[in-house]
Amino acid sequence: MSRVYNFSAGPAVLPEEVLRTAAEEMLDYHGSGMSVMEMSHRSKVFEDILQTAKQDLRELVGIPENYKILFLQGGGNTQFAMVPMNLMRKGQADYILTGQWAKKAAKEAEMYGKVNIIGSSADKTFTYIPDVKQLQISPDADYVYICQNNTIYGTVYHELPETGDIPLVADVSSMLLSEPVDITKYGIWWGGAQKNVGPAGVAIVVIREDLIREDVLPGTPTMLRYKTHADADSLYNTPPCWGIYVCGLVFKWLKAMGGLEEMQRRNQRKAKLLYDFLDSSAVFKGTVRREDRSLMNVPFVTGDEALDKKFIAEATAAGFVNLKGHRTVGGMRASIYNAMPEQGVKDLVDFMAEFEKKL
Ligand SMILES: *Cc1c(COP(=O)(O)O)cnc(C)c1O
Repeated sequence: MSRVYNFSAGPAVLPEEVLRTAAEEMLDYHGSGMSVMEMSHRSKVFEDILQTAKQDLRELVGIPENYKILFLQGGGNTQFAMVPMNLMRKGQADYILTGQWAKKAAKEAEMYGKVNIIGSSADKTFTYIPDVKQLQISPDADYVYICQNNTIYGTVYHELPETGDIPLVADVSSMLLSEPVDITKYGIWWGGAQKNVGPAGVAIVVIREDLIREDVLPGTPTMLRYKTHADADSLYNTPPCWGIYVCGLVFKWLKAMGGLEEMQRRNQRKAKLLYDFLDSSAVFKGTVRREDRSLMNVPFVTGDEALDKKFIAEATAAGFVNLKGHRTVGGMRASIYNAMPEQGVKDLVDFMAEFEKKL
């Protein structure tokens, strides 16, 4: 067996300890004689997995009691529709465009009401976050929507928009559980698990109770109502059982490591290694405005497509895989999520320095 350093943006690297536990428990989960994939979602043993995962997440993040935790299917793209279908009561919402995922969310919302684009960084290929102090929030908006960490472009909001009484909805898919968070700042805080937490197939939605309502847009399917899943405690239908189980193992891994403060320290150390190198390199350059750099996704270029290609090929051969940038950006991108060990980033930086020296 040989594991590579996997810099994929998603699905992405998972902690090796978690994979080992899942492997050990695969054939016989805790004496049940079966795997988690084979058991009834209504069984006592699965009920324990679900409730433990929820409780651990609540403790880890410090989620207040007036917020519900939902484990949903349909990934990120389904949330792009669920948010407006459940929240657009007055018929309009504010969106800030900071990349592909924010744009897709805004486009989806247009099917349900008026979308006000109150900020955008499209003028500079999404290499920065618009000044949140300059935003004109619409007084009649049902919510303000942001994509907090932009997976493709490698930017992050270090400061949140002040939305007053209007709920802030944030897609935190690619920064989920990477640092401490004050949930009370959000109306909905949601993310797809497959970037930084678990397997594809689960979306984690943390939603303030007053936003879970009966009066959703007409025609909203039962499965796309937050209320359906909140009332049934994420067991309205068969949930993504195995995905929830693996997320639960990751929550335990994070708790054992010292929680989100410790995770943030590690992530800051890793990102600093890479950004410091990029800032000192004569060949490689980061593409994002310094103050908006993401801790999770680090895009960089050489400025020469042929050289980018050569670098990616040599890196792949050396065991640093999935470094190719998103097709809309080009160049390279290193996603250095929670489960990427510090050694992986150190080794990558050494490899880049060596590559540069040989040119
Ligand atoms: C990957 C990603 C999505 C899309 O998730 P799917 O589960 O593929 O629908 C949405 N938002 C962000 C920030 C992402 O990184």
